Amino acid sequence: MFQLIIFGPPGVGKGTQAISIAEKLNLDHISTGEILRKAASEGTELGKRAKEIMDKGNLVPDDIMNGIVKETLESIKGEGFILDGYPRTLNQAVALTQIFNDLNFNDLKVINLRADDEEITQRLLKRGRSDDTRETILNRLKVYYESTSPVKKYYEDLGYNIDINGVGEVEEINSEILKCIN
Ligand code: ADP
Repeated sequence: MFQLIIFGPPGVGKGTQAISIAEKLNLDHISTGEILRKAASEGTELGKRAKEIMDKGNLVPDDIMNGIVKETLESIKGEGFILDGYPRTLNQAVALTQIFNDLNFNDLKVINLRADDEEITQRLLKRGRSDDTRETILNRLKVYYESTSPVKKYYEDLGYNIDINGVGEVEEINSEILKCIN
């Protein structure tokens, strides 16, 4: 079972790349953002709470996210999976290491996609999801630098982390990622 984490700031293209790589390599794509948006559209208790948090650009609490991912990974079958949008805090990264240990997952690669704030902001404003307003984007970037970017160092210190430029043609970035994980 192969594990891939696609890491990077909001709007860097994690989702686009994850969908395409998952299809090419026959992997499951696990997007925590999509899981939360689905819950929100279904109007579940979790969904309602998550939507309020997401629309402000804040993070859903770690214990909720860790629970969702643990449950998802415990029932996963097949050749492997891509995590997109998780882990997003050090607490989540540590929890994920524990989950991987418990489930004997030991074939991990971590890709870090890079793009500058201006590029990201322009892309998100064009996309126009309900959390893609100027004000929310500013907060999402702040949250990214404060809470999420330490995760990059966590994986670097463990000897992971492949840095890839997220600005350019989607297909080129895609082949770059494929090259790095093959
Ligand atoms: P993006 O990569 O553009 O920020 P996502 O779809 O990954 O979009 O996430 C959207 C929102 O969902 C986040 O801003 C956050 O509120 C919530 N979210 C997604 N994943 C997590 C997570 N692992 N921990 C906490 N909140 C999360």
